[in-house]
Amino acid sequence: MPSYVNPEKCDGCKALDKTACQHICPNDLMALDKVTMKAYNRDVTMCWECYNCVKICPTQAVEVRGYADFVPLGASATPMRSTDSIMWTVKFRNGTIKRFKFPIRTTPEGEAAPDGGFESPADLASPALFTEPASLGLPEVFTLKH
Ligand code: SF4
Ligand code: SF4
Repeated sequence: MPSYVNPEKCDGCKALDKTACQHICPNDLMALDKVTMKAYNRDVTMCWECYNCVKICPTQAVEVRGYADFVPLGASATPMRSTDSIMWTVKFRNGTIKRFKFPIRTTPEGEAAPDGGFESPADLASPALFTEPASLGLPEVFTLKH
């Protein structure tokens, strides 16, 4: 099921220039009805059910089908984010509710180093990844020598 915005919960992100769900959707699918001030998915066939809009919505207004690998068929999964964790509330078909809380960061909010503390590679043509070889604990990345 593509994303579905529950109009009873959506507050249009209180009329910000761009709503949270518009900001986060990698497919630019979310639109805001300026009359009702409710968001909606404007092309459900393009939604890949990535859950970004579900997780960012401050009012828990967006629903997406829960994949069978983490909730059984027919259950709903609703996230509640805080600055350091996310809690999922899963409501099963028989009405049972279970909650799972997970940490979402290892550094305090706003203090993560964008480059992770690694230096920029001197040789951009190198096949090594950005953090290698340091992150591998090796003196160098072994490559085919010409
Ligand atoms: Fe509505 Fe949530 Fe989208 Fe904000 S993020 S416009 S509250 S659905
Ligand atoms: Fe966009 Fe992902 Fe939400 Fe679908 S689930 S509308 S692709 S953010």
